Amino acid sequence: MSIIYDPRKLLREVVPETKIKRMVSRRLDVKRASLSFIDALPFIDKKAVASVALKTAKDYKKRVDKLAQKKDRDAGRDLESDLAKNPRQLINRVENEVIFQVHLMIKEKYRGQQARWLPSDAEEPRPEHQANYGKVYTIGEGINGVEPGDEPGCKCGVEILVNETELDLG
Ligand SMILES: [Zn+2]
Repeated sequence: MSIIYDPRKLLREVVPETKIKRMVSRRLDVKRASLSFIDALPFIDKKAVASVALKTAKDYKKRVDKLAQKKDRDAGRDLESDLAKNPRQLINRVENEVIFQVHLMIKEKYRGQQARWLPSDAEEPRPEHQANYGKVYTIGEGINGVEPGDEPGCKCGVEILVNETELDLG
């Protein structure tokens, strides 16, 4: 038996893109109520997630304002509609924050346990991580001091080699 932790699957099931998109309103603010879906992961620091969303919204706003100053209204409108329809930056940053916090939780909860490094499905997986796929390491020590999730954007998975099958997210 072992626990398979797949960051993509967790995001898909608990923090889907549709819900991340709703975090930032058209007026570029973040409504606390829009974060309630994260309650499914009680250990997550919601404040940190909210501030990532807010910071991203501010970045969008700055870019929109800059375009307005340049009197490039069309580009400003395009950017606003990007935020409404396909806010890649917002989705990536929120996903990375959640995955990072899950990673900290795993390190805390399963420190010292053996684990197997699982492949990432990222579009551009890190070659240094690819070299570690399938290798067994100790959680908290990693391989040459690095383990899945240590670096922002890493979507590598972990097979935690314990006598359980479910990741304890409580
Ligand atoms: Zn990775």
